[in-house]
Amino acid sequence: MLKKILDSKSCAECRLCCKFDRYDAWETPVFTAEICERIRSAKPETEFVTKDGGFIFKVKELDEDELFSCPALTETGCMLGDDKPFDCRIWPYRIMEVGGRRAITIASICDELYNRPLSQLAGFLKEGLADAIFSYADAHPEIVKPYYEGYPVLMFEKQELL
Ligand code: SF4
Repeated sequence: MLKKILDSKSCAECRLCCKFDRYDAWETPVFTAEICERIRSAKPETEFVTKDGGFIFKVKELDEDELFSCPALTETGCMLGDDKPFDCRIWPYRIMEVGGRRAITIASICDELYNRPLSQLAGFLKEGLADAIFSYADAHPEIVKPYYEGYPVLMFEKQELL
């Protein structure tokens, strides 16, 4: 979904968004039941837990600086190809609940996008991405994460005036 602004070569060389530490385990992607089965057939040891109708993978106990890779990550990249979870297709944009309202934020860990001008990041949302994100979240509320400190808010969802 971000091919216009984020080239796949940069992502392939980085893969930081597919690795997690003990503080950002909450950031792991939400999978559908079908994707869980696909991952399990390749890596039967993977365990999942439910999250508001979706599934997230179970993270083992981690040491202070230990990193944990998403079970879908392989030597050659994500095994899911174009069927990546929605969370991953919009990364580093995130949808969060901020003070009772849904908003689109951005993760600072993605150097490639975070260092772009704000006008470009917000502009891309206005070209249809924001509508796609809010609409997907209507059908899949499990992808909306509680607001996490340090994630700049780029756009709040429009609210009808009474
Ligand atoms: S599903 Fe694929 S893109 Fe998403 S975190 Fe896992 S390996 Fe990375």
